[in-house]
Amino acid sequence: MVDLKGQYENIKERVDSSIMNVIETTAFVNGTEVHEFQKELEQYLGVKHVIPCANGTDALQIAMMGLGLKPGDEVITADFTFAATVEVIALLQLTPVLVDVDPINFNIDIEAIKKAITPKTKAIVPVHLFGLAANMDEIMAIAEEHNLYVIEDNAQGIGADYTSKDGSKKKTGTIGHVASTSFFPSKNLGCYGDGGAIFTNDDDLAHIIRGIVNHGMYVRYHHDVVGVNSRLDSIQAAVLRAKLPHLDNYNKARIEAANKYSEAFKGIENIITPGGFDSEKNLSEKSHVFHQYTLKIKNADRDALVNHLNEKGIPCGVYYPIPLHLQKAYKDERYKEEDFTVTNQLIKEVISLPMHTELDDEQIKYITETIINFVAK
Ligand SMILES: *Cc1c(COP(=O)(O)O)cnc(C)c1O
Repeated sequence: MVDLKGQYENIKERVDSSIMNVIETTAFVNGTEVHEFQKELEQYLGVKHVIPCANGTDALQIAMMGLGLKPGDEVITADFTFAATVEVIALLQLTPVLVDVDPINFNIDIEAIKKAITPKTKAIVPVHLFGLAANMDEIMAIAEEHNLYVIEDNAQGIGADYTSKDGSKKKTGTIGHVASTSFFPSKNLGCYGDGGAIFTNDDDLAHIIRGIVNHGMYVRYHHDVVGVNSRLDSIQAAVLRAKLPHLDNYNKARIEAANKYSEAFKGIENIITPGGFDSEKNLSEKSHVFHQYTLKIKNADRDALVNHLNEKGIPCGVYYPIPLHLQKAYKDERYKEEDFTVTNQLIKEVISLPMHTELDDEQIKYITETIINFVAK
């Protein structure tokens, strides 16, 4: 699914010397690399504060802690996402409220958000799923009307641009009140282990969060709030500093591979390629950075296709095979199946193809021909 070795070969010198430098200087925790990476990422994103932490799940949890959400507060998020999003809501004893997604672009459904709002609702967590920016204009408008926080889960969307209706552009993760991201190795900006970060433009919130990640300390050994220990280590920061200057090119390579896939599948009736927007326009604007390239397979056996691809040596994934509202841990009697018609259908149809920065034309040709032959037969 990903080719991390090939990508490493191209930046080996910088990565190796930076890692060696961390070891030589023994600044393993909170060293220069972490501070420099933080500043460089702030600059890249155009956001006032980046607070590095240990992973993307922590980042989400800490963002919610920073906002002071209380047990029983309702948090609306998408039924179709990685479990981490809902996990931290539940862990903080907030009440997750899962809602359906859009059938075309897989992101949280705007009407479903509106329907789910109650007097207890305190926050919305849009996920920029598979690398495509959620509809932030609408989400921010709903949030403003109902006085809600917006926490962007940007684990899959780093580097994507969101273009507002007025034509202005912002990076995903810089639009809501606070955002989280993950530097897990397979993410668009991945380190060589675990890592994550929180972003915000709010000075007060940034201050609160900097204490929370460090055991609730604002002054050494004075613990003002209950915090956590969540740090990005210096070796991972060194890897991320080596990769950040290439992020736009990495995303460009993903977009190009996605366009080649979509071109090859053009006119194949049973295969619905990602999008649902004016793809030419949006792709050139980098609104989709293709963390995953996800097809919908209609009127054909998706699971048989998965097996067939595995036999042909083509890795693929089903993200996600079970909607969160049907997961044992997150069942809730408030959910009605008729409110999840899209996610219940998507789990049967979706398949994600290999997507990384090193895909070549020959691989794409082999993958697309194998799929077309199978689906057409
Ligand atoms: C990967 C991911 C996370 C969690 O990130 P980790 O660094 O693995 O903890 C959260 N949300 C989404 C949507 C993700 O894809």
